[in-house]
Amino acid sequence: MSIRMHCFLWNFRQFFRILTHAKTVQPQSSAKAFVSNSSHQPFAERLQILARNLWWTWNPQAQEIFRELSPLTWERSNHSAIDVLHEVSHTELAARLHDSDFQKKVHRVLEEFESYMQTGDTWASRHPQKLMQPVAYFSAEFGLHESLPIYSGGLGVLSGDHTKSASDLGIPFIGLSLFYRNGYFQQHLGPDGWQEESYPLYDPVRLPLELVTREEGGRLLNSVEIGHSTVYFQAWRLRVGRAFIYLLDTNLPENDRHFQGLTGHVYGGDVDTRIGQEIVLGIGGVRFLRSMGIEPSVFHMNEGHSAFLTLELLREQLKQGKNLEQAQKSVSARCIFTTHTPVPAGHDRFSAEHLHDTLGRFWNDTGLTGEQLMSYGRIDPSDRQEMFTMTVMALKMSRSANGVSELHGQVSREMWKELYPEKALRDVPIGHITNGIHTPSWATAKAHEFWNKRIGVDWTAKLMDSQFWGKMENGEIATDGELWALRYALRRDLVEFVRQRLRGQFARTEGEHSSIDRTLSSDTLTICFARRFATYKRAPLVFRKLDDIISLVNDPNRPIQFVFAGKAHPRDHEGKRYMQSIIEMTRHPQLVGKVVFVENYDMNVARHLISGADVWLNTPRRPLEASGTSGQKTVIHGGLNFSIMDGWWPEGYNGTNGWSIGDDTAESDLGLQDDKDFDSLFRTLTERVIPEFYDRNAQGIPEAWIKHIRSAMHSLVPVYNTDRMVAEYFNEYYSRPQHS
Ligand SMILES: *Cc1c(COP(=O)(O)O)cnc(C)c1O
Repeated sequence: MSIRMHCFLWNFRQFFRILTHAKTVQPQSSAKAFVSNSSHQPFAERLQILARNLWWTWNPQAQEIFRELSPLTWERSNHSAIDVLHEVSHTELAARLHDSDFQKKVHRVLEEFESYMQTGDTWASRHPQKLMQPVAYFSAEFGLHESLPIYSGGLGVLSGDHTKSASDLGIPFIGLSLFYRNGYFQQHLGPDGWQEESYPLYDPVRLPLELVTREEGGRLLNSVEIGHSTVYFQAWRLRVGRAFIYLLDTNLPENDRHFQGLTGHVYGGDVDTRIGQEIVLGIGGVRFLRSMGIEPSVFHMNEGHSAFLTLELLREQLKQGKNLEQAQKSVSARCIFTTHTPVPAGHDRFSAEHLHDTLGRFWNDTGLTGEQLMSYGRIDPSDRQEMFTMTVMALKMSRSANGVSELHGQVSREMWKELYPEKALRDVPIGHITNGIHTPSWATAKAHEFWNKRIGVDWTAKLMDSQFWGKMENGEIATDGELWALRYALRRDLVEFVRQRLRGQFARTEGEHSSIDRTLSSDTLTICFARRFATYKRAPLVFRKLDDIISLVNDPNRPIQFVFAGKAHPRDHEGKRYMQSIIEMTRHPQLVGKVVFVENYDMNVARHLISGADVWLNTPRRPLEASGTSGQKTVIHGGLNFSIMDGWWPEGYNGTNGWSIGDDTAESDLGLQDDKDFDSLFRTLTERVIPEFYDRNAQGIPEAWIKHIRSAMHSLVPVYNTDRMVAEYFNEYYSRPQHS
């Protein structure tokens, strides 16, 4: 072992020790720190440790163990390992382990998990550059698993996938976010197709969280100032493989009632709640790290919500006696920023009064004047009318910034060029790293099995091996028949999932339906559309010329069918109207049973749809989709993208690995743009997509279609994943020498 690597290993262990140093209270569990030699511990304890590390969310054998222990609890709890272990007594577990097959399975999974946790041989350990201190990654949401509802959509899923890949690559990594005790809302459709929302209360005991406590006992408390109040918060630790996420939580008896609920809902409440949450996340996040004795090598702001962290870092520097210029330099040398929002209106903005009311006490402490503070969030510091924009501050206070696709990088440079008046457009210092997905988390159990069987080893080790995926262009790894069988099996799973979900939905909204068993067909070309119902995503676009689509859906020989899902933000009435129009389609006499909407879109619903879809439809209004990632999830299952040339698709599309909609021109008349995009969509659908799906050879296989699948797997799987993405962050941003 080289000295360098040795040094890194030592450091990684030290990092680990620091993070697990403070004693932790594990509600109802006797789990010990898992760095101890675990194979001598009883199975029950080792399973508890496994259930409290989200590593199991990307290991299908681990999930199978929990499912097998109690299938009903597993289903009812939206796949919660902890709930299963609550349900199954020690006595039962001991008895079940007398089944030697089951015991072997458990043993294998535990060994795999423990060796993952203990290995020093990782991508990062072999990398010439080392990070001696962890990355601190701040994000308002993390989408890690359906049983942990602290996310609302793509931004959260990206953060979760980023964390998982950081763990897989062995990069020391800490995520920071808030503990949303009420999560994001549960969606129910009213009889009129209008979205209704409810907020369950989540019990931390039933989530894989550990309260962070002080060494001498008692919860570790920190505080921030909001207005005239001191707001205290505690922190919960989440283990994600080798990475950690800390969730800050103001629900404490020490706080006024009003502030106890501050961190309750994902993006909940009014502008006061939003700024309060952002103060806890940004300023509180830095204070929390300090109280843990952690000095990150880099502060990564994933979107502007956490940008107040730069003010806290600035305050620290000023307290140490640095002048403003030195202090600012020292802050920006340690911060990087990823922007996700391609429209000016989408960026968080606060008025001077608002900032003064909420941050007044804090900023007195910094010694800055109000104008100085405001200038960080203004493009033009001398413009007293300009609001304070979080993105502007994040850009001013970071050493590097990036968008999330090539196109979004361009759009961002154009949008923020006024901040850099001395620079030519192409030199505006905003680069791009295109988003990816944590493929092992998104591959269904069937897909894992399919690839493992074909390759004979753990296929996820081949994820970034483009030579390997190149072999998909011919029949070397999988024959046409095998791929077609996989497509059928996954489409069948989706059809049955939808029928099961509709049974529950209809029982509430429409009464008994005898036709559910005839809803969807596993022989029919299946087009899925699922994402947040933000209006720019244009869910209703495909129905723009209704009669044309009705005739395609009802073609006796070559029919198509649609599955929709998605949530509108509770205050987005226009988004809810879009959803209502989709619900109307599902009830249209000529579309019923062939166009369906699945309630309560979450990571579980997403996994069923991305795997069952033949065609993944994406119709954003260009260039408003910064990246989009859902289409990347479908490829490993043999699904094909059919998308506007927006977000990641202009980079991903190569002419044979899916289809494009429209071109790169933009009409100023939005209605005209919609017409053009619909016409393009309809033409490609009728001239290419449908014929290629239904033209079968003598074996009943659509050869042209399978060629598209092969091309997609070859060109997209090894690129559009978070291992590639996080490695790029590491090489270009995290490990770059700091200039201060
Ligand atoms: C992947 C995913 C998204 C992101 O979808 P895009 O619209 O493609 O960005 C949103 N929500 C959930 C639940 C997802 O799994």
